Amino acid sequence: YKINRCKKKKKKNKKIKGSKDMTITKTIYMYFLYIPTYMLPTFDAWQWEPNEMLSCLEHMYHDLGLVKDFNMNPITLKRWLLCIHDNYRNNPFHNFRHCFCVTQMMYSMICLCNLQEKLPQVDILILMTAAVCHDLDHPGYNNTYQINARTELAVRYNDLSPLENHHCAVAFQIFSQPDCNIFSKFDPEAFKQIRQGTITLILATDMARHGEILDSFKQKVDGFDYADEEHVTCLKMVLIKCCDISNEVRPMEVAEPWVDCLLEEYFMQSDREKSEGLPVAPFMDREKVTKPTAQIGFIKFVLIPMFETVMKLFPQIEEAMVQPLRESRDRYEELKQIDDAMNEVQVLQMIQSAEEEEREPDDWREEEVSV
Ligand SMILES: [Zn+2]
Repeated sequence: YKINRCKKKKKKNKKIKGSKDMTITKTIYMYFLYIPTYMLPTFDAWQWEPNEMLSCLEHMYHDLGLVKDFNMNPITLKRWLLCIHDNYRNNPFHNFRHCFCVTQMMYSMICLCNLQEKLPQVDILILMTAAVCHDLDHPGYNNTYQINARTELAVRYNDLSPLENHHCAVAFQIFSQPDCNIFSKFDPEAFKQIRQGTITLILATDMARHGEILDSFKQKVDGFDYADEEHVTCLKMVLIKCCDISNEVRPMEVAEPWVDCLLEEYFMQSDREKSEGLPVAPFMDREKVTKPTAQIGFIKFVLIPMFETVMKLFPQIEEAMVQPLRESRDRYEELKQIDDAMNEVQVLQMIQSAEEEEREPDDWREEEVSV
Protein backbone atom coordinates (compact mmCIF):
# COMPACT_ATOMS: atom_id res chain seq x y z
CA TYR A 1 0.00 0.00 0.00
CA LYS A 2 1.05 3.50 -0.78
CA ILE A 3 0.23 6.16 1.75
CA ASN A 4 -2.23 8.83 0.63
CA ARG A 5 -0.84 11.97 -0.87
CA CYS A 6 -2.86 14.83 0.42
CA LYS A 7 -3.34 16.38 -3.04
CA LYS A 8 -4.88 13.28 -4.58
CA LYS A 9 -6.70 12.00 -1.55
CA LYS A 10 -9.94 10.93 -3.21
CA LYS A 11 -8.38 9.10 -6.09
CA LYS A 12 -6.07 7.01 -3.92
CA ASN A 13 -8.71 6.23 -1.36
CA LYS A 14 -10.68 4.58 -4.14
CA LYS A 15 -7.69 2.51 -5.09
CA ILE A 16 -7.31 1.26 -1.53
CA LYS A 17 -10.98 0.38 -1.26
CA GLY A 18 -10.90 -1.60 -4.47
CA SER A 19 -7.84 -3.60 -3.51
CA LYS A 20 -8.35 -7.30 -2.84
CA ASP A 21 -4.96 -7.79 -1.24
CA MET A 22 -5.71 -9.18 2.21
CA THR A 23 -2.12 -9.73 3.28
CA ILE A 24 -1.51 -6.26 4.71
CA THR A 25 0.78 -6.23 7.69
CA LYS A 26 -0.32 -4.88 11.04
CA THR A 27 2.00 -1.87 10.78
CA ILE A 28 0.65 -0.82 7.42
CA TYR A 29 -2.87 -1.36 8.65
CA MET A 30 -2.20 0.88 11.66
CA TYR A 31 -0.64 3.46 9.36
CA PHE A 32 -3.70 3.32 7.15
CA LEU A 33 -5.98 3.79 10.15
CA TYR A 34 -4.33 6.96 11.32
CA ILE A 35 -4.02 8.62 7.92
CA PRO A 36 -7.33 10.42 8.09
CA THR A 37 -6.72 11.66 11.63
CA TYR A 38 -3.22 13.06 11.28
CA MET A 39 -4.35 15.27 8.43
CA LEU A 40 -7.02 16.81 10.64
CA PRO A 41 -7.00 19.52 13.31
CA THR A 42 -8.62 16.98 15.66
CA PHE A 43 -5.43 14.87 15.82
CA ASP A 44 -4.44 13.95 19.37
CA ALA A 45 -0.68 14.36 19.75
CA TRP A 46 -0.67 13.36 23.43
CA GLN A 47 -0.75 9.67 22.52
CA TRP A 48 2.53 9.61 20.66
CA GLU A 49 6.13 9.03 21.66
CA PRO A 50 8.84 11.33 20.26
CA ASN A 51 9.93 8.63 17.79
CA GLU A 52 6.41 8.32 16.45
CA MET A 53 6.07 12.07 16.09
CA LEU A 54 9.40 12.12 14.23
CA SER A 55 8.17 9.44 11.80
CA CYS A 56 5.00 11.39 11.31
CA LEU A 57 6.89 14.61 10.48
CA GLU A 58 9.13 12.68 8.11
CA HIS A 59 6.05 11.23 6.49
CA MET A 60 4.54 14.70 5.98
CA TYR A 61 7.64 15.87 4.03
CA HIS A 62 7.33 12.80 1.79
CA ASP A 63 3.57 13.08 1.47
CA LEU A 64 3.64 16.74 0.42
CA GLY A 65 6.16 15.80 -2.30
CA LEU A 66 8.89 17.95 -0.74
CA VAL A 67 11.49 15.16 -0.61
CA LYS A 68 10.97 14.32 -4.28
CA ASP A 69 10.53 17.84 -5.66
CA PHE A 70 13.56 19.25 -3.85
CA ASN A 71 15.70 16.16 -4.30
CA MET A 72 16.28 15.72 -0.55
CA ASN A 73 18.29 12.83 0.78
CA PRO A 74 15.76 10.81 2.83
CA ILE A 75 18.47 9.87 5.35
CA THR A 76 19.44 13.53 5.78
CA LEU A 77 15.78 14.30 6.42
CA LYS A 78 15.73 11.69 9.23
CA ARG A 79 18.97 13.01 10.75
CA TRP A 80 17.74 16.61 10.51
CA LEU A 81 14.48 15.81 12.31
CA LEU A 82 16.33 13.91 15.04
CA CYS A 83 18.62 16.90 15.50
CA ILE A 84 15.56 19.19 15.68
CA HIS A 85 14.12 16.97 18.42
CA ASP A 86 17.39 17.12 20.35
CA ASN A 87 17.36 20.91 20.19
CA TYR A 88 14.01 21.41 21.87
CA ARG A 89 14.20 21.60 25.67
CA ASN A 90 11.93 19.78 28.12
CA ASN A 91 9.86 22.86 29.04
CA PRO A 92 6.30 22.37 30.29
CA PHE A 93 4.95 24.01 27.10
CA HIS A 94 7.63 25.05 24.62
CA ASN A 95 8.90 21.53 23.93
CA PHE A 96 9.14 19.11 21.00
CA ARG A 97 5.49 18.09 21.31
CA HIS A 98 4.48 21.74 20.79
CA CYS A 99 6.73 21.83 17.70
CA PHE A 100 4.97 18.71 16.45
CA CYS A 101 1.49 20.13 17.09
CA VAL A 102 2.24 23.38 15.28
CA THR A 103 3.66 21.49 12.29
CA GLN A 104 0.78 19.01 12.26
CA MET A 105 -1.69 21.93 12.26
CA MET A 106 0.25 23.50 9.38
CA TYR A 107 0.01 20.23 7.48
CA SER A 108 -3.75 20.09 8.21
CA MET A 109 -4.21 23.64 6.93
CA ILE A 110 -2.16 22.94 3.80
CA CYS A 111 -4.53 20.02 3.07
CA LEU A 112 -7.76 21.70 4.18
CA CYS A 113 -7.12 24.96 2.29
CA ASN A 114 -5.72 23.20 -0.81
CA LEU A 115 -2.62 25.35 -0.48
CA GLN A 116 -0.66 23.12 -2.86
CA GLU A 117 -2.95 24.25 -5.66
CA LYS A 118 -2.49 27.91 -4.76
CA LEU A 119 1.16 28.28 -3.73
CA PRO A 120 4.43 27.11 -5.29
CA GLN A 121 6.09 24.11 -3.61
CA VAL A 122 8.86 26.33 -2.26
CA ASP A 123 6.29 28.14 -0.12
CA ILE A 124 4.95 24.81 1.19
CA LEU A 125 8.55 23.88 2.09
CA ILE A 126 9.01 27.23 3.89
CA LEU A 127 5.72 26.87 5.81
CA MET A 128 6.54 23.36 7.02
CA THR A 129 10.20 24.04 7.82
CA ALA A 130 9.45 27.27 9.70
CA ALA A 131 6.83 25.41 11.75
CA VAL A 132 9.32 22.64 12.65
CA CYS A 133 12.02 25.15 13.65
CA HIS A 134 9.92 27.95 15.15
CA ASP A 135 10.68 27.43 18.89
CA LEU A 136 14.10 25.71 18.76
CA ASP A 137 16.00 25.85 22.07
CA HIS A 138 13.24 27.87 23.78
CA PRO A 139 14.43 28.46 27.36
CA GLY A 140 10.91 28.53 28.89
CA TYR A 141 11.03 32.23 29.80
CA ASN A 142 9.49 34.77 27.41
CA ASN A 143 10.89 37.88 25.72
CA THR A 144 9.72 40.17 28.52
CA TYR A 145 11.75 38.14 31.02
CA GLN A 146 14.77 38.07 28.69
CA ILE A 147 14.65 41.85 28.35
CA ASN A 148 13.92 42.68 32.00
CA ALA A 149 16.53 40.23 33.30
CA ARG A 150 18.99 41.47 30.65
CA THR A 151 19.84 37.92 29.65
CA GLU A 152 22.55 36.97 27.18
CA LEU A 153 19.89 36.57 24.44
CA ALA A 154 18.41 40.03 25.06
CA VAL A 155 21.87 41.60 24.96
CA ARG A 156 22.82 39.69 21.80
CA TYR A 157 19.66 40.75 19.92
CA ASN A 158 19.27 44.26 21.42
CA ASP A 159 15.86 43.42 22.91
CA LEU A 160 14.41 42.87 19.40
CA SER A 161 12.46 39.57 19.47
CA PRO A 162 15.39 37.88 21.23
CA LEU A 163 13.73 34.46 21.40
CA GLU A 164 12.51 34.33 17.80
CA ASN A 165 15.91 35.51 16.56
CA HIS A 166 17.49 32.74 18.61
CA HIS A 167 15.12 30.00 17.33
CA CYS A 168 16.00 31.08 13.82
CA ALA A 169 19.74 31.20 14.42
CA VAL A 170 19.68 27.70 15.94
CA ALA A 171 17.71 26.45 12.92
CA PHE A 172 20.38 27.67 10.53
CA GLN A 173 23.20 26.42 12.74
CA ILE A 174 21.61 22.99 12.32
CA PHE A 175 21.41 23.44 8.51
CA SER A 176 25.07 24.41 8.47
CA GLN A 177 25.96 20.85 9.51
CA PRO A 178 26.25 18.93 6.22
CA ASP A 179 24.68 15.73 7.63
CA CYS A 180 21.55 17.65 8.65
CA ASN A 181 21.26 19.97 5.66
CA ILE A 182 18.11 18.98 3.77
CA PHE A 183 18.82 21.88 1.40
CA SER A 184 22.29 20.67 0.36
CA LYS A 185 21.24 20.16 -3.27
CA PHE A 186 19.85 23.70 -3.58
CA ASP A 187 21.67 26.29 -5.66
CA PRO A 188 22.70 29.44 -3.73
CA GLU A 189 19.72 31.46 -5.03
CA ALA A 190 17.20 28.82 -3.97
CA PHE A 191 18.85 28.51 -0.53
CA LYS A 192 18.70 32.29 -0.13
CA GLN A 193 14.97 32.22 -0.84
CA ILE A 194 14.33 29.42 1.66
CA ARG A 195 16.47 31.12 4.28
CA GLN A 196 14.76 34.50 3.87
CA GLY A 197 11.29 32.93 3.86
CA THR A 198 11.96 30.83 6.97
CA ILE A 199 13.45 33.78 8.89
CA THR A 200 10.45 35.97 8.04
CA LEU A 201 8.00 33.33 9.29
CA ILE A 202 9.82 32.49 12.52
CA LEU A 203 10.20 36.18 13.38
CA ALA A 204 6.46 36.61 12.73
CA THR A 205 5.67 34.29 15.66
CA ASP A 206 6.58 37.02 18.19
CA MET A 207 3.16 37.87 19.68
CA ALA A 208 4.33 41.44 20.25
CA ARG A 209 3.81 41.87 16.50
CA HIS A 210 0.34 40.29 16.45
CA GLY A 211 -1.66 43.51 15.82
CA GLU A 212 0.72 44.78 13.16
CA ILE A 213 0.70 41.49 11.19
CA LEU A 214 -3.06 40.91 11.43
CA ASP A 215 -3.83 44.51 10.37
CA SER A 216 -1.57 44.16 7.38
CA PHE A 217 -3.35 40.92 6.38
CA LYS A 218 -6.79 42.50 6.85
CA GLN A 219 -5.86 45.17 4.32
CA LYS A 220 -4.99 42.52 1.73
CA VAL A 221 -7.57 39.83 2.29
CA ASP A 222 -10.52 41.31 0.37
CA GLY A 223 -8.55 41.80 -2.82
CA PHE A 224 -6.13 38.95 -2.19
CA ASP A 225 -3.74 38.33 -5.07
CA TYR A 226 -1.72 35.10 -5.17
CA ALA A 227 0.52 36.69 -7.81
CA ASP A 228 1.52 39.46 -5.40
CA GLU A 229 4.58 38.40 -3.43
CA GLU A 230 3.78 40.77 -0.56
CA HIS A 231 0.29 39.30 -0.22
CA VAL A 232 1.62 35.73 -0.18
CA THR A 233 4.31 36.55 2.40
CA CYS A 234 1.70 38.13 4.65
CA LEU A 235 -0.59 35.09 4.27
CA LYS A 236 2.27 32.75 5.23
CA MET A 237 3.02 34.89 8.31
CA VAL A 238 -0.61 34.69 9.41
CA LEU A 239 -0.71 30.93 8.76
CA ILE A 240 2.26 30.18 11.00
CA LYS A 241 0.77 32.47 13.66
CA CYS A 242 -2.53 30.57 13.45
CA CYS A 243 -0.78 27.21 13.82
CA ASP A 244 1.45 28.41 16.66
CA ILE A 245 -1.52 29.34 18.87
CA SER A 246 -3.98 26.76 17.56
CA ASN A 247 -4.40 24.51 20.61
CA GLU A 248 -7.93 25.77 21.29
CA VAL A 249 -8.93 24.69 17.76
CA ARG A 250 -8.43 21.11 18.90
CA PRO A 251 -10.99 19.01 20.82
CA MET A 252 -11.36 19.97 24.48
CA GLU A 253 -9.62 16.87 25.83
CA VAL A 254 -6.59 17.59 23.60
CA ALA A 255 -6.56 21.37 24.15
CA GLU A 256 -7.11 21.61 27.88
CA PRO A 257 -3.88 19.91 29.08
CA TRP A 258 -1.96 22.48 27.01
CA VAL A 259 -3.45 25.29 29.13
CA ASP A 260 -2.08 23.57 32.25
CA CYS A 261 1.32 23.27 30.58
CA LEU A 262 1.33 26.94 29.58
CA LEU A 263 0.30 28.09 33.05
CA GLU A 264 2.99 25.88 34.59
CA GLU A 265 5.58 27.60 32.39
CA TYR A 266 4.10 31.06 33.17
CA PHE A 267 4.13 30.40 36.93
CA MET A 268 7.72 29.20 36.75
CA GLN A 269 8.56 32.54 35.16
CA SER A 270 6.51 34.73 37.53
CA ASP A 271 7.93 32.94 40.60
CA ARG A 272 11.42 33.63 39.30
CA GLU A 273 10.52 37.26 38.52
CA LYS A 274 9.23 37.73 42.06
CA SER A 275 12.38 36.25 43.56
CA GLU A 276 14.58 38.40 41.32
CA GLY A 277 12.58 41.57 41.98
CA LEU A 278 11.49 41.91 38.33
CA PRO A 279 8.04 43.09 37.16
CA VAL A 280 5.39 40.33 36.92
CA ALA A 281 2.67 40.30 34.23
CA PRO A 282 -0.79 39.71 35.81
CA PHE A 283 -1.60 36.96 33.26
CA MET A 284 1.37 34.96 34.56
CA ASP A 285 0.72 35.48 38.27
CA ARG A 286 -0.54 32.37 40.08
CA GLU A 287 -2.43 34.66 42.51
CA LYS A 288 -4.42 36.28 39.68
CA VAL A 289 -4.94 33.73 36.89
CA THR A 290 -7.43 30.89 36.47
CA LYS A 291 -7.82 28.67 33.44
CA PRO A 292 -11.08 30.34 32.28
CA THR A 293 -9.79 33.91 32.74
CA ALA A 294 -6.58 32.97 30.93
CA GLN A 295 -8.46 31.52 27.95
CA ILE A 296 -11.60 33.65 27.44
CA GLY A 297 -9.88 36.91 26.47
CA PHE A 298 -7.31 35.10 24.34
CA ILE A 299 -9.96 33.16 22.40
CA LYS A 300 -12.30 36.16 21.99
CA PHE A 301 -9.82 38.89 21.14
CA VAL A 302 -6.87 37.06 19.57
CA LEU A 303 -7.87 33.67 18.15
CA ILE A 304 -11.40 34.22 16.79
CA PRO A 305 -10.64 37.55 15.05
CA MET A 306 -7.55 36.06 13.39
CA PHE A 307 -9.17 32.81 12.25
CA GLU A 308 -12.27 34.70 11.04
CA THR A 309 -10.03 36.87 8.87
CA VAL A 310 -8.34 33.78 7.40
CA MET A 311 -11.85 32.34 6.86
CA LYS A 312 -12.55 35.10 4.32
CA LEU A 313 -9.92 33.49 2.09
CA PHE A 314 -10.64 29.87 3.06
CA PRO A 315 -14.32 29.45 4.02
CA GLN A 316 -13.70 25.73 4.64
CA ILE A 317 -11.93 26.48 7.94
CA GLU A 318 -15.15 27.68 9.55
CA GLU A 319 -16.42 24.22 10.37
CA ALA A 320 -13.02 22.66 11.10
CA MET A 321 -11.39 25.49 13.04
CA VAL A 322 -13.58 28.51 13.84
CA GLN A 323 -16.56 26.56 15.16
CA PRO A 324 -14.41 24.65 17.70
CA LEU A 325 -13.00 28.01 18.86
CA ARG A 326 -16.50 29.38 19.46
CA GLU A 327 -17.42 26.24 21.39
CA SER A 328 -14.30 26.50 23.50
CA ARG A 329 -15.04 30.17 24.25
CA ASP A 330 -18.59 29.25 25.36
CA ARG A 331 -17.31 26.40 27.54
CA TYR A 332 -14.76 28.61 29.32
CA GLU A 333 -17.40 31.30 29.83
CA GLU A 334 -19.62 28.72 31.55
CA LEU A 335 -16.69 27.59 33.68
CA LYS A 336 -16.00 31.19 34.63
CA GLN A 337 -19.62 31.66 35.70
CA ILE A 338 -19.26 28.63 37.97
CA ASP A 339 -15.98 30.05 39.37
CA ASP A 340 -17.65 33.42 39.97
CA ALA A 341 -20.63 31.81 41.69
CA MET A 342 -18.27 29.84 43.95
CA ASN A 343 -16.38 33.00 44.81
CA GLU A 344 -19.65 34.76 45.60
CA VAL A 345 -20.63 31.95 47.96
CA GLN A 346 -17.23 32.20 49.66
CA VAL A 347 -17.59 35.97 50.05
CA LEU A 348 -21.10 35.56 51.49
CA GLN A 349 -19.80 32.98 53.96
CA MET A 350 -17.02 35.34 55.02
CA ILE A 351 -19.50 38.19 55.56
CA GLN A 352 -21.80 35.87 57.50
CA SER A 353 -19.09 34.66 59.85
CA ALA A 354 -17.91 38.25 60.36
CA GLU A 355 -21.45 39.24 61.30
CA GLU A 356 -21.67 36.35 63.76
CA GLU A 357 -18.50 37.53 65.42
CA GLU A 358 -19.93 41.03 65.71
CA ARG A 359 -22.98 39.68 67.48
CA GLU A 360 -20.84 38.36 70.34
CA PRO A 361 -19.19 41.47 71.77
CA ASP A 362 -19.80 40.38 75.38
CA ASP A 363 -17.73 37.22 75.02
CA TRP A 364 -14.95 39.36 73.63
CA ARG A 365 -14.93 41.72 76.55
CA GLU A 366 -15.02 38.86 78.98
CA GLU A 367 -12.04 37.34 77.28
CA GLU A 368 -10.19 40.65 77.35
CA VAL A 369 -10.93 41.00 81.03
CA SER A 370 -9.84 37.48 81.82
CA VAL A 371 -6.57 38.07 79.93
ZN1 LIG B 1 5.37 28.14 19.42
